[in-house]
Amino acid sequence: MEKGLKMSQRARLFFLILSIILMAACSGNLPSLQLGVIGPTVTSNQNPSPTFTPFGPKADIATDPPTTAATQINTSTFTMQPANTPTMMPTLTQATLTDTILPPAITLTPGTAPAFVPSKYTMSVMMDYAGHILNADETIHYVNSTGGNLNDLVLAVEPNLWKGCFVPSGLTVNGQAISNFTLTDDRLEIPLPAPFPPDGALDLFMHFDLHLPAADVYHVFGYNDYQTNLIDWYPFIVPYIPGQGWLLHPIAKVGEHLAYDVESIDMTLHMTDPNFHGIVAASAPAQTITFGWRYRMESVRSFVFSVSSDYQMASTKVNGVTIKSYFFNSESAQGQTVLGEVAKAVTTFDTLFGPDPYASLSIVESPFYDGLEYDGLFFLSRDFYTAENGTVLNNLIDIGVHETAHQWWFGSVGNDQAMEPWLDEALATYSERLFYEQNYPEVNAWQAFRIDAYNPTGWVDTDIYHGVGFRTYANAVYLRGAQFLQALRGRVGDAVFFAFLKDYATQLAGKRATSADFFRILRQHTSADISDLISEYFQNPH
Ligand SMILES: [Zn+2]
Repeated sequence: MEKGLKMSQRARLFFLILSIILMAACSGNLPSLQLGVIGPTVTSNQNPSPTFTPFGPKADIATDPPTTAATQINTSTFTMQPANTPTMMPTLTQATLTDTILPPAITLTPGTAPAFVPSKYTMSVMMDYAGHILNADETIHYVNSTGGNLNDLVLAVEPNLWKGCFVPSGLTVNGQAISNFTLTDDRLEIPLPAPFPPDGALDLFMHFDLHLPAADVYHVFGYNDYQTNLIDWYPFIVPYIPGQGWLLHPIAKVGEHLAYDVESIDMTLHMTDPNFHGIVAASAPAQTITFGWRYRMESVRSFVFSVSSDYQMASTKVNGVTIKSYFFNSESAQGQTVLGEVAKAVTTFDTLFGPDPYASLSIVESPFYDGLEYDGLFFLSRDFYTAENGTVLNNLIDIGVHETAHQWWFGSVGNDQAMEPWLDEALATYSERLFYEQNYPEVNAWQAFRIDAYNPTGWVDTDIYHGVGFRTYANAVYLRGAQFLQALRGRVGDAVFFAFLKDYATQLAGKRATSADFFRILRQHTSADISDLISEYFQNPH
């Protein structure tokens, strides 16, 4: 109790300092950071910090759409408590981003890529919950399905965006020690001793320690007073585009920058404290093993978990999917409410898009400002719980449904979130409408609350580097995206529209979709002239 009280006091001090810094940041007085040239060999000497967007100004929380985005935090000038806690890196400024980042658009020619073989990730993890430290052994079995020789591997290492967080050691490829790797920002480049031929396989091993950062209202990763969240926490091999190279974009002020292939996970988790009595929420159900848990999951883009000694949990099962709601004691009623609505959403989306890609789905309450999706697990802002008002049109339900839809649009059907974020965000937003249509009479109220209130403008195919700010980005990608889908549905009719959606979800399950895929499959279902809609909503015609 004593220790917990002190931590709470420290946390309050931290948030106070952060608030002061945020106010300073909003004044626009941050120094501009220099980014390097963007491309396969990118990088910056400064390590930007990925941050999640709040619902715009706090006053907009009731109606703002969710997303993640960078905020203008510069925490480089203070040290967080307790000692030994990693400090966040200084982050990007808007001017720098809009001026310097222009990654090339990624397009794939259908039918030309070799058969993709998912990598196998085997991890043994030891967690010191009280000390905020993770030790992990990670082996990646990687098959070269790029169709050509590879001279290097590129991994995304998101924890390295926090200073002092990520400490690797013992890196080997097929047992051969590798010491000449480079790690800059979140990009780990591993030169291979010899050209790695098509269809060859290798085993990449590394040990790493994570000295977890204190999370704040803009970050889920790390620990807070209630829980420890492990998202994008292990190094993973990024997708490779034949002819273009490794697909790892820099972070931006708004939106999510990562693209993932699917992979398989076999992970064990143990606690250093044998007396730790906590609950683990994870992307997959746990198998209890001696003093720990084992998780296995196929076709997952990123395996995440969250640990707390305070979780309450409620669960239900629909269409073979076990849904668990993890919440804190004071929000038990809301935790039950969101469980029931997410169960309805899973049923609705099963019918419209095809079966849920995962056997389980965990809803995790977290003290940050947004909703954030991963495979088989998503986080929802504690603010949504405390503001829940007993109606069906509130953020707890609407954003809960949105993140549920991401199980299909992000999880099953992947995409390049940096360059074509509309593919998952417009579909997830429009899926909210479909949920209300199917379950409640409030669909027009949803339209007014979620879309029309913002009178949105902007191109649906805006990338995260041209989003300008959170509101303009969300209006263009999420809201105009949902308007486009509604207009498309009106043009082609319900039968064609829903047959297309299900076909798109089926054909691209486990793959990364592009806008070209979206329109190619659409045109397999209709010959309707939609050129006026394309011109109205898209900057780059398809
Ligand atoms: Zn979303």
